[in-house]
Amino acid sequence: MADLNKLYDDVIMDHIKHARNYGEMEQASLQADGVNPLCGDNLTVYVQVDSDVLRDTKFKCECCGISMASASIMTEMVKGKSVDDAKRIAAEFLGSFSDEGENKHADHGRSAVLGIVREFPSRRNCASLAWAALNAALDGKDQAVLGS
Ligand code: ZN
Repeated sequence: MADLNKLYDDVIMDHIKHARNYGEMEQASLQADGVNPLCGDNLTVYVQVDSDVLRDTKFKCECCGISMASASIMTEMVKGKSVDDAKRIAAEFLGSFSDEGENKHADHGRSAVLGIVREFPSRRNCASLAWAALNAALDGKDQAVLGS
């Protein structure tokens, strides 16, 4: 992995080394697994929902760095948001992967993930995984499997 430092910029490396909200949640209201067979990524997203607000969000995974970083960024972006807002943020994030237009609500974490997806399209499922699992959890499903 000699290219690791070129592949992952500082923001991504920081989320890999110091993943936010990493670990199991004992009393999650909702949780879903995300599976990306192409890369072998396997993660679980936990959500604590109270009065329609995501009070807490955690994840754990056996996954590559980009999945880890995207999941870490995801938990930070949706924590404290309403369920509807979290779904909207997820849809925007996932939609921005295919949108060549400018990033309307660019923040540093999302821009970093987007940069990798644009440069390495094969990593798109890795970057999408946590968000797909979040969507599944919020829809009451227990798993999201990404195809090719
Ligand atoms: Zn991956």
